[in-house]
Amino acid sequence: MSTIQQEIAKRRTFAIISHPDAGKTTLTEKLLLFGGAIQTAGAVKSNKIKKTATSDFMEIEKQRGISVATSVMTFEYNDLLINILDTPGHKDFAEDTYRTLTAVDSVILVIDCVKGVEEQTERLMEVCRMRDTPVIVFINKMDREGQNPFDLLDELEQKLNLKVRPLTWPVNGGATFKGVYHLLEKQMYFFKVNKTKVEDDVALLELDSEELDAKVGARDAAQLREDVELIDGVYDQFDREDYLSGKVAPVFFGSAVNNFGVRELLEAFCQISPLPIARQTNVRLVKPDEKNFTGFIFKIHANIDPRHRDRIAFLRVCSGTFERGKFYKNTRLEKNVRFSNPYSFMASAKEVVEQGFPGDVIGLYDTGTFKIGDTLTEGEELQYAGIPSFSPEIFKELINLDPMKSKQLEKGVQQLTDEGVAQLFTVQPGNRKVVGTVGELQFEVIQYRLEHEYGAKCRWVQMNTTRACWVTSEDPKKLQEFIRLKGTQIGYDKDDNPVFLADSEWMLRMNRDNNPDIQFHTTSEFK
Ligand code: GDP
Repeated sequence: MSTIQQEIAKRRTFAIISHPDAGKTTLTEKLLLFGGAIQTAGAVKSNKIKKTATSDFMEIEKQRGISVATSVMTFEYNDLLINILDTPGHKDFAEDTYRTLTAVDSVILVIDCVKGVEEQTERLMEVCRMRDTPVIVFINKMDREGQNPFDLLDELEQKLNLKVRPLTWPVNGGATFKGVYHLLEKQMYFFKVNKTKVEDDVALLELDSEELDAKVGARDAAQLREDVELIDGVYDQFDREDYLSGKVAPVFFGSAVNNFGVRELLEAFCQISPLPIARQTNVRLVKPDEKNFTGFIFKIHANIDPRHRDRIAFLRVCSGTFERGKFYKNTRLEKNVRFSNPYSFMASAKEVVEQGFPGDVIGLYDTGTFKIGDTLTEGEELQYAGIPSFSPEIFKELINLDPMKSKQLEKGVQQLTDEGVAQLFTVQPGNRKVVGTVGELQFEVIQYRLEHEYGAKCRWVQMNTTRACWVTSEDPKKLQEFIRLKGTQIGYDKDDNPVFLADSEWMLRMNRDNNPDIQFHTTSEFK
């Protein structure tokens, strides 16, 4: 194996996703404890926004601005270098999460055993399915009285359109939770309330042994045997290839806060999860072990401190070796750029790195030139596909309140939307600026940041639009005609793609039906 192949084989880059409160932060922390990246519980700050209030968000952004370390957490375990990409929990920032999902090779989905599949779980899984991202499911909070595990699995299959395969199985739940039986290892892991230690109480127990009765109790042992028989009857044997192609999700049970079931999850993750994979660009599939470096920007983090306007762009390395100080081409701008202080996120501290390999995430200082989705190469003309924008749901027109500051406003809106805080559409006549988001909170955030970072004041005027669809046609004339007829119902996104702005689902449907030559797309990813 060449050096680069060895480096690739060591890397695992993934995200933990969940509906807020299911236990994502807790699980992240326990994983980091195993990896020795942190020493104490409570070290990982939740990025959760408790109230839907701007001040709360700003507080968090401030903390994160100072230590962006929580955006990517890297730790070593079993000779692997594991990168966890953090995703915001708040619904209004779902787009940020979707984009982060384009930069990972797999995900762990956390489900609360009491609540089952929740709204945001469904949305997040839709994005994973767009790319056949491999998923491991962790059913959390088994120390609570939850739903029947078979019912939970049925719910996962139905609501998430995902085949599952349990690899551990709980013995009871709630107050009488005894632990989980590992179906492949044939070991019983006994549950103890244990918040900090990392040892397990494990016993190798054959299902048909008398020892199982002795240790687990005759009644529970009988139930376990019955359950396992049913599992083997209902679910296919676990096949790693099916997991890697996104067809089957292995399922683990545990209790993150008690550090229970986490080690089995991590061990399995190390064994089965994918290495950095080949990725699609607009011209060809790029393999990670190619000689030349390529990568893309999936996230831009503003420095909230107005005295330091620089931003941090997060680069996912896709192929070759990234080197500090070397010139790379930003293929969107046709411009060569180099980075003298790129850094990694090892041990939750920023460290300048000399090199980066596929799977790595590198922080680059940016003075406002990057846009989400930008691709860096050693000169080759290609662009990574797959930083989708999703149809926003709330639309407001931006009104400038201080004509003396229109330049600042212009620049601010441009930069904030480049960061992906919201989407900007231009509507004619008059170059009106319309901002579209998936949550109300972003409008407050933009207003606040325009004022504090750019010195520009604005107000919002609510629009009737509730749906936006990118429009294309095989016949350019027909598209032009459609655009002309729709007039002010057409906006242009930042890349000048036409977008149809509809007041209602009904209006959208009517336009779809009446214009069979026009294609309507709910994400910008339609090439
Ligand atoms: P996130 O919003 O998904 O990041 O969720 P958190 O990790 O912040 O957890 C939400 C709440 O659930 C916190 O109060 C945790 O202490 C609690 N929690 C996490 N894991 C467990 C668990 O296994 N059992 C119980 N009973 N509570 C848990």
